[in-house]
Amino acid sequence: PEENDAGVIRLLDDETVNTIAAGEVIERPASVVKELLENAVDAGADMIKVDISTGTQHISSIQVTDTGCGMHPSDAQMSFVRHATSKIRGPDDLSRIHTMGFRGEALASIAAVSRVTLITRTQERDAGTEIVIEGGEILSVSEVSSPQGTTVRVDNIFFNTPARRKFLKSRQTELLHIYRAVEGEAFAHPESAFRLRVNGKEKLRTQKTTAITQTIAQVYGADVAREVIPLSAGTPVMRVDGGIVRPEACRPNAGEIHLCVNGRPVTSPQIVRGIRAGYGTLIPKGRYPAAYLNIRIDTSLVDVNVHPAKREIRLSREKDIIGGITGAIRDTLQTTDLIHNDTSAH
Ligand code: ADP
Ligand code: MG
Repeated sequence: PEENDAGVIRLLDDETVNTIAAGEVIERPASVVKELLENAVDAGADMIKVDISTGTQHISSIQVTDTGCGMHPSDAQMSFVRHATSKIRGPDDLSRIHTMGFRGEALASIAAVSRVTLITRTQERDAGTEIVIEGGEILSVSEVSSPQGTTVRVDNIFFNTPARRKFLKSRQTELLHIYRAVEGEAFAHPESAFRLRVNGKEKLRTQKTTAITQTIAQVYGADVAREVIPLSAGTPVMRVDGGIVRPEACRPNAGEIHLCVNGRPVTSPQIVRGIRAGYGTLIPKGRYPAAYLNIRIDTSLVDVNVHPAKREIRLSREKDIIGGITGAIRDTLQTTDLIHNDTSAH
């Protein structure tokens, strides 16, 4: 018989722990896309392809193929273990993260809430490895032929988490989030080529480039690229490159500020405020600036370990960094306005 004065606290089993943790990393199908793209970038891929299939109501599968380094067969299995990563080794590394991933949670989380087929091969090996895993359980491991690199295919997303599945928005809304995710990564990583297809139809394609205006044109469209003023500036603590719209092209809505910090698409109310401050009184009443900025900050000044999805960052020496961004925008607009006035005087 049970003792009646026994405690009631139990350690949760792995499956429960994994499902809870997966909920933080994988909020919606676009989170899967973001995580797989980050892994492809970290693998040093030249070319990254995303293929989405939809059913009548939902996203039915997500596939990301990269030409990166691939994985050794034992690593391929290890990659699905929670907190297993090749990217950091200890707490000291957290203060100088130079990869997109480091928590070792994405593949474990994705596999906990879907069916994943991973095919991968390194350059050194002749054969590739295929692993099928569903709800965190490995169903098969086999040798297959495969090009160098990695393909991850995700089906049946949220099949075992009905609460999460119920809160998925319409197919169109989820697709929009996926577009935003691919755009963000493509803008943040002009050193790789990206391609997005939905049901076989191409939605986005970028080529490798080092010219930021070309990246803006490829990702956000030629119209956007035409109306932005290029910006490039640096201070001892940061460097910012990209484009900002002319004051008269400011938008009727907020939310057109696209930022990446050290290769990571991020949201940052502080940086948004800094950008507005740079425009100052030049913003027409009731309008909002649009900006496409690639920001580099010394990794020791950026804490990306704030949220499991790593969309938020915390900055040390925030005043200096934001001040640098505000100054860069103010200076750029000032010089541009002078040129603008000069030409209009003739
Ligand atoms: P993290 O990216 O934080 O390390 P993940 O769960 O996303 O955690 O991936 C676990 C590990 O699997 C990575 O550290 C990496 O070694 C390997 N991996 C994942 N995706 C790829 C890929 N596309 N190419 C090569 N290796 C990969
Ligand atoms: Mg990762």
